[in-house]
Amino acid sequence: ADDLVRAVHRFMQYSDAARRMNVRANADTPEDAARARRMGAQGVGLCRTEHMFLGDRRTLVERLILADTDKEREESLAALLPLQREDFTGIFEAMDGLPVTVRLLDPPLHEFLPDITELSVRVAVAEARGEEHEGDLRLLQAVHRLHEQNPMLGLRGVRLGLVVPGLFTMQVRAIAQAAADRIKAGGRPRPEIMIPLVGTVQELEIIREESLRVLAEVGAEHGVELDFPIGTMIELPRAALTAGQIAENAEFFSFGTNDLTQTVWGFSRDDVEASFFSNYLEKGVFGVSPFESLDVDGVGRLVRLAAQEGRAARPDIKLGVCGEHGGDPASVHFFHEVGLDYVSCSPFRVPVARLEAGRAAARS
Ligand code: PEP
Ligand code: MG
Repeated sequence: ADDLVRAVHRFMQYSDAARRMNVRANADTPEDAARARRMGAQGVGLCRTEHMFLGDRRTLVERLILADTDKEREESLAALLPLQREDFTGIFEAMDGLPVTVRLLDPPLHEFLPDITELSVRVAVAEARGEEHEGDLRLLQAVHRLHEQNPMLGLRGVRLGLVVPGLFTMQVRAIAQAAADRIKAGGRPRPEIMIPLVGTVQELEIIREESLRVLAEVGAEHGVELDFPIGTMIELPRAALTAGQIAENAEFFSFGTNDLTQTVWGFSRDDVEASFFSNYLEKGVFGVSPFESLDVDGVGRLVRLAAQEGRAARPDIKLGVCGEHGGDPASVHFFHEVGLDYVSCSPFRVPVARLEAGRAAARS
């Protein structure tokens, strides 16, 4: 068995030496980041921050999103800041010296709002009993106002960051503080700030300006230089089609092929599979789900176009992918061919991605 382990290890070494693309992992916790590192990940390509806002912190986020006054909003943000700082400290520690792409908040809004049916029943019952329900009623009105039929196409990502003042700057401040702490402790944190669901360069420009201001502020407070890349996900067709403009405000692109597949095909990531995917697979409309293996003819064409236009506008732009396809063998070959700098996938797929990236390079 030892011989076998040594042989596999040697094989991985050949493959790693051959490949051109780096392999990173998607990780949201220090434990996942450490596991990914043991699997050979060369950084975190996607740290989804929405998971950090669930559980006990849900009520803070709820209060933030539904806040009626600046005071209420600022209180929620002030309560969230130290918690976020701690989240990032752990991940930067686990990945010291390696890049960590932190994606600013991108939840479908309904995940953070109280359940509308439950709330309606509570209000109705209180009303029938003649009990006080002013607070719940106000909450219900606010939830109604924000209710969406298609949350995945709604107030998500950068849109939420623009609509809720202070939300993204709180996250950037937490990243900056955690990084400053580590620098002062002799570490080498390498955060990269990533803006989700961008469709136009203006969205990115506003958030970028705010983020640069916060980095400079926190840097001055701590007496350290915080010069971190700011980039965007390319996960909407419009972003891919205007990649040349977007690159002017982005030091890197990370292709979000999950959302890009959803929006290019017009499939809902949440619903589509149950209703007709098995039928399509049976009839051979496609051999494998485009959410699993990249649809090279459609989604892939946009990835290629955006990579070319991004590079033409900014030759030193870094290009990666962090959708599920980053760990799919056939898709990894495609990303190599298009010239991406890295793929990012779930930690347990890292070895596969390393091997496939090596094979792709050996073939070309
Ligand atoms: C994507 O859309 O491909 C992506 C990586 O982001 P998420 O899956 O979190 O929407
Ligand atoms: Mg996405």
